[in-house]
Amino acid sequence: MLGHLLDLVTYDIGIDLGTANVRIGIKGKGLVAIEPSVVAINKVTKEVLAVGNDAKGMLGRTPANVIAVRPLKDGVIVDFDTTLAMIKYFLSLVHQKRENVWVIPKPRVLVGVPSSITDVEKQAVIDAALFAGAREAYVIEEPMATAIGVGLPVNEAVGNMVVDIGGGTTDIAIISLGGIVVDKTINIAGDEMDELIVEYMKDKHSLLIGYSTAEKVKIDLAIAHPEVEIKEQEIHGRDLISGLPKAVRIDSMEIMEAISPALRKITDAIKEAIEDAPPELVSDIYSKGIVIAGGGSQIPGLDRLWSETLHVPVKIAKDPQLSVLKGTLKALDQIETIKRLKEVEDQIIY
Ligand code: ADP
Ligand code: MG
Repeated sequence: MLGHLLDLVTYDIGIDLGTANVRIGIKGKGLVAIEPSVVAINKVTKEVLAVGNDAKGMLGRTPANVIAVRPLKDGVIVDFDTTLAMIKYFLSLVHQKRENVWVIPKPRVLVGVPSSITDVEKQAVIDAALFAGAREAYVIEEPMATAIGVGLPVNEAVGNMVVDIGGGTTDIAIISLGGIVVDKTINIAGDEMDELIVEYMKDKHSLLIGYSTAEKVKIDLAIAHPEVEIKEQEIHGRDLISGLPKAVRIDSMEIMEAISPALRKITDAIKEAIEDAPPELVSDIYSKGIVIAGGGSQIPGLDRLWSETLHVPVKIAKDPQLSVLKGTLKALDQIETIKRLKEVEDQIIY
């Protein structure tokens, strides 16, 4: 009985609205569901037909009047209805997975959102969560959630730098005293690398492959530094000239070459972010280093590449794809304090 009461008090949900994946978790339990950030919409009626895995299954094989979209792909949320459909769906996943659904009151929800979204869009996310059944809803900017998630002392007067390489965007931020001091978001991340691999295979091997094959090749083979383990694999596609099936053996060095334009752009953006930071924070970054997170941070050698080119220590987050979610769940602990201290403006924290 007491257990139920405690449940009642601590029913907090964190959501990471990523550009590639949405992750949802419950305080005390951690991750409960992960699904692709895809929504299938009827073009004519604008009705949302499916969300997550079901919608992803419809990508590329939809009838003419159905489109599958990734509403957060470039860090931008398209419209309220789509956002609402997504949040409703993801909250329903949590309910399905819980026993004792009937004793559970409306949850408090904290949603990690891209830092590039506008206040209007933030409010749309909050309204959508409330409309979907949340008792209280808040948003937190993803770089802040990442930093909290990886355990950085975000409230101290030191410079904390995080680089989150996701699907659609790379988020680079320097955080100090509970605020984001420098924030740089670029549309160069995992998806761009997949596109570069598709192009590379066309140009160098006359081989036509799809984006999901390219993503798999990236995950299996990509490296960011020549002195890490090199792997190789046979890649199947279609010959550009004959149109017939063809297989080519590829190794990690080639994939590194293919994705190098994206790596260069991310490196430049990190340099610019450091240049934009106040000098005291820069010295902190040189001594404490950078934490990298997000799916893209798992490319072997990325830490070596950046520690050598930027001359800063680089650490990869533990479970890098869960940093934002972990941060939302941790930040929920502080919401009451933050509300009291800051009198949270329009329910938007940080
Ligand atoms: P988002 O937060 O934007 O939804 P994620 O942090 O979930 O994105 O990262 C998704 C991206 O990470 C995808 O582009 C995916 O291909 C890439 N990714 C996942 N695992 C790996 C890996 N082991 N190596 C390289 N890239 C990876
Ligand atoms: Mg993310």
